[in-house]
Amino acid sequence: MNRQDFPALNQQVYGKPLVYFDNAATTQKPQAVIDAISHFYQNNNANVHRGVHALSERADKAYENARKSVKEFINAKHTQEIIFVRGTTEGINLLSHMINKGDEVIISAMEHHANIVPWQLREAKLNVIPLLDNGELDLNAYKNMLNETIKLVSITHMSNTLGTINPVKEMIALAHEKNIPVLLDCAQSISHGPIDVQDLDCDFLVFSGHKIYGPTGIGIVYGKQALLDKIPPYQGGGAMIAIVDFEKTTFTHLPYKFEAGTPDIAGAIGLHAALDYVSALGFDNIISHEKKLLDYAQEKLQAINGLRIIGTAPDKGSIISFVMDKAHPHDIATILDREGVAIRAGHHCTMPLMKRFNVPATARISMTFYNTTDEIEKCVSALYKVKEIF
Ligand code: PLP
Repeated sequence: MNRQDFPALNQQVYGKPLVYFDNAATTQKPQAVIDAISHFYQNNNANVHRGVHALSERADKAYENARKSVKEFINAKHTQEIIFVRGTTEGINLLSHMINKGDEVIISAMEHHANIVPWQLREAKLNVIPLLDNGELDLNAYKNMLNETIKLVSITHMSNTLGTINPVKEMIALAHEKNIPVLLDCAQSISHGPIDVQDLDCDFLVFSGHKIYGPTGIGIVYGKQALLDKIPPYQGGGAMIAIVDFEKTTFTHLPYKFEAGTPDIAGAIGLHAALDYVSALGFDNIISHEKKLLDYAQEKLQAINGLRIIGTAPDKGSIISFVMDKAHPHDIATILDREGVAIRAGHHCTMPLMKRFNVPATARISMTFYNTTDEIEKCVSALYKVKEIF
């Protein structure tokens, strides 16, 4: 689908047509996003929030329109609930400032390091939801963990390693029964299906622009206004203040309270273009194509003797982690690369998950709407080459 919109896909690697199966790490960018960024730099480049001149007003408008586009994309109530940050990682670090030493936070055993380490830096006590063998969360264990000592539940919507999509709406409702707020890490899920923060009733949500066909360096924190108001500023500097004096400084209102310094204006504009692109494509089309790819790839991979898929939850996105007898995941990825097939091997920033499944690393195929069944065929033939070598 719409492959021609992505210039980087139209190239050869080692003399073979590129098969890009590393979309969970970062997605390729459509021409519309590249054009939006160059248009800004060629015509409207100025700093935001500070000038009265024409270019500055244009930059302001474009930056705030980008915020509005995010608000609409996730159906937030208010634009001031949308904060621009560098990405998911920075977003969780910002939100971690609602936690103090010794506070209890529930996370899960499938979390990315970005949803583990920031809580440790705050010296939180982590309560970890265990996993079933198929890579689903153990919801019974989760229910038993919810009690009045818990300050926050912070979980991934979709695992970047297993592909598992968690039943977050149900999990949020359960947490709210005990008045516990919930933060969703939507780094992966944002590009695979519609997200409605009001329908989910999540309290906080974070995602990165580069995982949804937008630029690197830009990401989003969403939070319910009343809750964001209670969190102290994360960084100090220009744009986030009301009055600065040497004796005392007061801070401005949302969202600027959390946007110290010059933001990534071009990044926000690129993200706006990316969200418009995805909306025009339509999630119905994206979901049905990705499901077809996932089913096709899983069937082909399962037929390879000695290959084991890790993560077989019934509700999963187009990500497949696997190991092969004798071949280390890094060897698999290197051999595939020579065939033009880009996959990722390693712990995928989920070291505790590797421990849970007792593997040092996995090879990971992550697909999106611009991938094709023909590319899966190429990948599978390359995997048979791996088998021959080992
Ligand atoms: N959370 C999940 C589930 C991810 O997949 C990733 C990136 O792979 C992150 C967090 C971190 O995102 P970023 O590196 O864009 O901050």
